[in-house]
Amino acid sequence: MELLLYNTMTRRKERFEPIQPPQVGLYTCGPTVYNYAHIGNLRTYIFSDILKRVLLYNGFEVRHVMNITDVGHLTGDRDMGEDKLEKGARSEGKSAWEIAAYYTQAFKKDIRRLNILEPTIWCKATETIADQIALIQTLEVKGYTYRTSDGIYFDTSRFKDYAKLSHQDLEALQEGARVEKNPEKRNATDFALWKYSPAGVQRQMEWPSPWGVGFPGWHIECSAMSMKYLGALLDIHCGGTDHVDVHHTNEIAQSEAATGRKFFNYWMHGAFLIIAGGKKMAKSEGNFLTLETTVASQRIDPLAFRFASFQTHYRKPMEYGDEAIAAAQNGLQHLRNQARVLMDAAPPSEVDAGYREKFLQAINNDLNIPQALAVAQDMLKSELAPAAKLATLLDYDRVLGLDLQKSGADQTLPAEIQALADARQRARKEKQWALSDQLRDQIQALGYVVQDSSQGMKVFKP
Ligand code: AMP
Ligand code: ZN
Repeated sequence: MELLLYNTMTRRKERFEPIQPPQVGLYTCGPTVYNYAHIGNLRTYIFSDILKRVLLYNGFEVRHVMNITDVGHLTGDRDMGEDKLEKGARSEGKSAWEIAAYYTQAFKKDIRRLNILEPTIWCKATETIADQIALIQTLEVKGYTYRTSDGIYFDTSRFKDYAKLSHQDLEALQEGARVEKNPEKRNATDFALWKYSPAGVQRQMEWPSPWGVGFPGWHIECSAMSMKYLGALLDIHCGGTDHVDVHHTNEIAQSEAATGRKFFNYWMHGAFLIIAGGKKMAKSEGNFLTLETTVASQRIDPLAFRFASFQTHYRKPMEYGDEAIAAAQNGLQHLRNQARVLMDAAPPSEVDAGYREKFLQAINNDLNIPQALAVAQDMLKSELAPAAKLATLLDYDRVLGLDLQKSGADQTLPAEIQALADARQRARKEKQWALSDQLRDQIQALGYVVQDSSQGMKVFKP
């Protein structure tokens, strides 16, 4: 069955055809590791995980590269402001290297908890400086660069079709640029390839280069790393929707200028997670929630956030709210209960071909996961035998990644927690509500989640 994906470049759904089937090269712009990822960032990584799982489900072999931005991402998008890592290091009283290592580990923990498959290759900006310098040298030889007092810039007016991804009105951008603070830039859209360390300041992260000691601009890392690690497999490049106008537009300009060839065939972007009132969740807005705080404050399984993100198509904004999260926790629990009932009835038999086809139709229509969940519920309500339902559901879970296989085996609780849970069960039966609440608090203080529903009480480790 054909796989349709929405390509931001052409602004339509296109039939996906890789350059060298069955291999697919996938590049996901990774996190800037100066702080914890927020659940908006994580929504984007769940989107790219679904994309990857759908490719795998369709029989492709995926070579997936994700970078870690540990240098060069400035606080202002157009090369103004401070390096986020150096700023983070100062405010935490640690080195930029320590900050990067710490938040990289935190990010990896988050994605593990969300069942996001690890990329084939992790790579760091700071480990590929030589490749980035080589790419800038190529651009220099080809006449695309110029020097200012603070660095080497890419001259976007020399690249035809600079706005082909963003479809921006470049004249309007030039107008807006009058308020910009860098008068040395020839065009408002020009961007830094290499920035010098400021005079008299020793940055924690800096390298020698043919142009002077400094550090790479943010965009060049993704061009260098995708070409280095994907080679000819420049199939799909993805990230959040805010990457369209600047980051991905600049990646395309510098890569195509350097190689003279097309850089990636498909560009895919996940919409934002927003908070009530429509505001984007962002670190710079100070309105962000991490996975850890969400799990703890809402008392949910981390996979409930994954399930919550399935309720909205990836190209539509997802509004975050406590009620939606609670509903997702219940929905996930319900699905697990359904799986458990089937597991108690019989071992899985064969996947039902008709329902597999329906599921495939949904996911292959630009990753329509809300529709795929509806197909799963139809299948579970159908006349299929339990063994076939179970096989089909577990097959769907290769894409959904909700760990449904584990629904059957109840988590064995440590004896101490089990004793508290049993005591609470008795207290509830005897309507001793104050005692029941006290026991709940005790269990939670030991790091377990207590959940009451019409099916009874459930205690689990989040
Ligand atoms: P960063 O760590 O800031 O480089 O961002 C990591 C990823 O999260 C990028 O792909 C961003 O486009 C994406 N992103 C940032 N804010 C949001 C948000 N509110 N909702 C969804 N994705 C986001
Ligand atoms: Zn990138």
